[in-house]
Amino acid sequence: MGSPDRANASAQAARPAAAARPRARILPPVRLPCSWCDAEFGVADFLDRCRFYWRDARSVRWDCPRCGRWEDIDLHPGEVRRGYVYWAGDSRFAHMRTAIVPGLLPYSGEDGLTVEYGGRVWRVPDLGSSR
Ligand SMILES: [Zn+2]
Repeated sequence: MGSPDRANASAQAARPAAAARPRARILPPVRLPCSWCDAEFGVADFLDRCRFYWRDARSVRWDCPRCGRWEDIDLHPGEVRRGYVYWAGDSRFAHMRTAIVPGLLPYSGEDGLTVEYGGRVWRVPDLGSSR
């Protein structure tokens, strides 16, 4: 038996069906701020700074090109969740705030996290499991 996190990860491994994906290619100009220095970034510039995917916590390490500090984020369809990773028997993500990002489509696979947005694709490498 896997943990609930494992089951969740495998459920998200398959690329969503085309019908479930956003059709609109004209995306609203979402700006995402750094939690440390308040510098704001467009979604594509923000996604360029996703360094690695931490599967255990289902979290992505993001670092800021302005101030150089990092934070833990959790990418969901249409959402960037901000928070932090903590230890409670295993690694977990504490969800603090949500930014709505229409058209954001992340899904996890064998090699890490794939993120689609605005016609571009990012691959965030998997840090590996500590289990
Ligand atoms: Zn910053």
